[in-house]
Amino acid sequence: MSRAEQLDTVTDTTAGTVERHATTGTFESTDPATGAVVGVFPVHDAQAVQETVERARPAARLWADLGFDGRRQRLAAYRGHLARRMHELADLVHRENGKPRADAILEITLTIDHLTWAGAHARRTLGRRRVRAGMLAADHAAYLEYQPLGVVGVIGPWNYPVFTPMGSIAYALAAGNAVVFKPSEHTPAVGAWLAAAWRAAVPDVADAFQVVTGNGSTGAALCRAGVGKLAFTGSAPTGRRVMAACAETLTPVLMELGGKDAMIVDDDADVAAAADAAVWGAMSNAGQTCIGIERVYATAPVYDRFVAEVTERVRGLRPSSDDEAAYGPMTMAAQADVVRRHVDDATASGGRAATGGTVDGVLVAPTVLLDVPEESAAVQEETFGPTLTITRVRDAEEALERTNATSYGLAGAVFSRSRVKAMDLARRMRSGMTSVNSVLTFASVPALPFGGVGESGFGRIHGEDGLKEFTRAKAITRRRFRLPVDLTSFSRPPAAVDALARVVGVVHGRHR
Ligand code: NDP
Repeated sequence: MSRAEQLDTVTDTTAGTVERHATTGTFESTDPATGAVVGVFPVHDAQAVQETVERARPAARLWADLGFDGRRQRLAAYRGHLARRMHELADLVHRENGKPRADAILEITLTIDHLTWAGAHARRTLGRRRVRAGMLAADHAAYLEYQPLGVVGVIGPWNYPVFTPMGSIAYALAAGNAVVFKPSEHTPAVGAWLAAAWRAAVPDVADAFQVVTGNGSTGAALCRAGVGKLAFTGSAPTGRRVMAACAETLTPVLMELGGKDAMIVDDDADVAAAADAAVWGAMSNAGQTCIGIERVYATAPVYDRFVAEVTERVRGLRPSSDDEAAYGPMTMAAQADVVRRHVDDATASGGRAATGGTVDGVLVAPTVLLDVPEESAAVQEETFGPTLTITRVRDAEEALERTNATSYGLAGAVFSRSRVKAMDLARRMRSGMTSVNSVLTFASVPALPFGGVGESGFGRIHGEDGLKEFTRAKAITRRRFRLPVDLTSFSRPPAAVDALARVVGVVHGRHR
């Protein structure tokens, strides 16, 4: 295909319209349940990505100049648009990702809540404020403000194709940046829809949010396009490649990576509530949730009851692509192979499936694994499927030790009726986020930062930290008046420093 022909490869789907760009061909996104084509999208090459970023630069200036109020108004218009067309977007998410429409609605609602919070709190978090000048600058006023970075690149996964990337996009926009977003090649239609919706809702600064589509090479080009920051959400291996590419241009990165989250069920837990939450945390979205519960450590007194409660609930779950299904097909066929490998490895190494354990094409039966050795893949590696290992432990301390014995550290949950003990366990859990007596709740609280430690990445989206993540701190001092003696001048009298030393001795010397 000639370049001219490529330029004509404009994708116009029901999903939305992708810009006219130079491309190196096209690719299809398909419905994981039926294989039906959802849309055809351009593979944007490095030049097209660069052009998009260049078009975003003046938009970023325009967007920043609107100030907090102007941006807040337009972010409100955007969320109004999303709310009005929620069912259309949910249907697209269902077709492209496979999840039930009801779960897509939940995901969109969460996104709208975050957009609202980010718009409403940007000024208070980032706006200019005076800080104490301190003893040596008593003649100065001191100011702190958080300025936008310009154009932010966002690379996202397919599992929550609205909520996950918008966790970066909403906060980056609210902080005054323009965004160029590269969605996963498995969910480009949703990405294109989100950008088309922006264009419709915010026509005066349409280029402040644009999408480029393609595969890993398109993402790599975005890393090298001179963006002010690259916000990546995906797996740890790809995260390493993104960091390496960004290192070439010293582009700072935000890394939201995978997890192997655990739930601790203590002696005094409400076992039925813990079982219900564990099943939702492990199986919803077919287990394709970065903060999904993949392991449970239940103490000896509650173990049998917990296993019985979980198994009973899980047996009632039905994976399918219809609207009554508990969860849908695996979005990527390859992920079903990973789940199968983990289940086979667990059973071959002495574990057993209390229920499930079968994989039928892209439909994975909800699976509860017992007696699985700690060193097996099902306990150590991210499975990203509707599976749960349940392990009996002596007490909550052993549960915590095993929970923390992983290279990941994204999130987790604690079930206990003792507030003091539960809070203590939550604080000592080596993870960025923990829910007590529920699962995943922190993700729905816009004021709380979201992110992990270790192989789960670094940096934060959501909350004040999420706004600051997409800014640089700017410090300004302004001299208000002249002191009789200027200590930072060659004209200072020697006696002035002696006097200063005496004052410091009196004020600070008494502290031991
Ligand atoms: P991947 O790491 O495979 O891909 C993530 C994104 O990176 C995709 O858009 C992908 O594009 C792109 N990409 C691939 N190669 C490159 C490259 N060389 N340079 C730049 N970009 C590249 O993850 P998945 O999409 O499979 O998502 C699942 C993972 O995401 C899981 O590990 C999950 O835990 C994690 N995740 C983490 C979250 C968090 O907030 N911490 C939230 C949600 C998911 P393409 O698809 O086109 O190849």
